Amino acid sequence: MTTNPPAIHFNQTRFCISAAKLSQCPSDSTAEIAFAGRSNAGKSSAINVLTQQTKLARTSKTPGRTQLLNFFDLNLQGLRIVDLPGYGYAKVPVAMKEHWQKHLDEYLQKREVLRCVVLVMDIRHPMKEFDEMMVQWCQNTGMRLHVLLTKADKLKRGPVQSTLLQVRKALKERLGDSVSVQAFSALKHTGVQELQQLISELMIPWYGSDGYATDEHSTE
Ligand code: GDP
Repeated sequence: MTTNPPAIHFNQTRFCISAAKLSQCPSDSTAEIAFAGRSNAGKSSAINVLTQQTKLARTSKTPGRTQLLNFFDLNLQGLRIVDLPGYGYAKVPVAMKEHWQKHLDEYLQKREVLRCVVLVMDIRHPMKEFDEMMVQWCQNTGMRLHVLLTKADKLKRGPVQSTLLQVRKALKERLGDSVSVQAFSALKHTGVQELQQLISELMIPWYGSDGYATDEHSTE
């Protein structure tokens, strides 16, 4: 008898916990997808549209809750979305930025259940210094990378396509099959299904696993 694989119902995503350092991250994740981006790139809007909620990703911006990582539970146990702090947020003091940087590095380097980084870039300003840093890190570690070129509604169709092709080509040359790139608009809800599909494909195999890579999924 064949059974259908379980489905991720993104609209059932719920806030789980904020963590200021690696030791505070939940211990029962089996798969996490982390959203990264420069401040104002459109990361919170993308998470909200992905999860069909209006305020979910707001928490990370609330004064006093500028924690390093915000975890959101998907409807399937053990699967989580992680909202990394917007990089370069102007109002944050230098000491706080250094704190973030240190713990962000630690999360990226040591979090074994991290399966993919979704890097959110404004389609009008792709591949800035922070983005390059994240791409380089994914290249060095073999981490799966998905790039969201958001605010696509700000450009005409032609420039959207040419930027998409240009960024995709440049990244494929460096990361091969472990990178994908798509256009997105939180305003027009463009590319939402594509993003949901990708996350489902990446995460479903981990649902129900014990938190450690099986032979099938092991990268070693
Ligand atoms: P974050 O700092 O990366 O979380 O960025 P936000 O999601 O808060 O978005 C920053 C600004 O860009 C806000 O004013 C949003 O309304 C706007 N924005 C975000 N996504 C889009 C989009 O797809 N299209 C347009 N036109 N504006 C967007």
